[in-house]
Amino acid sequence: MSSQWIFLNDQLVKKEEAVVSVYDHGFLYGDGVFEGIRVYSGNIYKLEEHLKRLYESAQSIMLNIPYTKEEIQQIIIDTVRKNELESAYIRVVVSRGPGYLGLDPTNCSDPRVVVIAEDLALFPKEVYERGLTLASVATRRNRPDVLSPQVKSLNYLNNILVKLEANQAGAHEALMLNDQGYVTEGSADNIFIIKNGAIFTPPVYLGALEGITRNAIIDIAKDLGYEMKEAPFTRHDVYVADEVFLTGTAVEVIAVVEVDQRIISDGQPGKITNHLLSEFRKRVTLDGVQCYQSTKSSAAV
Ligand code: PMP
Repeated sequence: MSSQWIFLNDQLVKKEEAVVSVYDHGFLYGDGVFEGIRVYSGNIYKLEEHLKRLYESAQSIMLNIPYTKEEIQQIIIDTVRKNELESAYIRVVVSRGPGYLGLDPTNCSDPRVVVIAEDLALFPKEVYERGLTLASVATRRNRPDVLSPQVKSLNYLNNILVKLEANQAGAHEALMLNDQGYVTEGSADNIFIIKNGAIFTPPVYLGALEGITRNAIIDIAKDLGYEMKEAPFTRHDVYVADEVFLTGTAVEVIAVVEVDQRIISDGQPGKITNHLLSEFRKRVTLDGVQCYQSTKSSAAV
């Protein structure tokens, strides 16, 4: 197998050589931001939206990304091409960089940018076909006035804690509520429910990341003529929904068939979920930035 190449500190290096300092505040404090992006058949899906969110997260935590959006775009393309990937998951990480042990970010003058591109399927194929199970968890979603869910920071402990709870409950994924008890999202995905033909997802102000896949599904639902609403709902609404599904760059679109041991409808991925998923699959290769302009042979860089 050929080696995997990672972009780190201005160059593409072999995976084994892609190491960062233990004094990097991304490592010491989770001080940094990131994005997860997918490439479908050489097409970087919704790259502009992902870069916008990356720069907004950085702006919010006063982190200067040492490249322009155009430069980061080129770095991502170069990383995909160097690894000769057609379809891939890309992780872009910008850390505050190395500093002293104290947490003050003014110690750090050299933010670090990492780009990783590799194959990633979050769950085995059977789970995508049969649907997954959710468990609602005791840990609440970070309040937007404490650490905004809109900042895709390297501090993912809130999400990791709920994943641990889901694991302990024997479920595939967690269902996170906010401090008022309204449904927000999963550990790394947005949630949709369907009732009587209408599709609902929580408004982001309740405490969900404004997912790019979420927004794409909202557009698709509207284009296909479904009634699509951003409205608050509770666990009860999820239990009695006709269909439930999750969206996210890593997970893509996946049906949920059981929540807190309540079987959703007949326990099979629903018809509308499958309709949205097939339209999503059609669109992912159309709408984005091409890594390989002409033929695959241009992959050799
Ligand atoms: N919520 C959280 C907490 C996430 O980490 C993600 C993954 N980025 C999502 C939702 C889904 O967002 P997107 O569709 O932009 O990947």
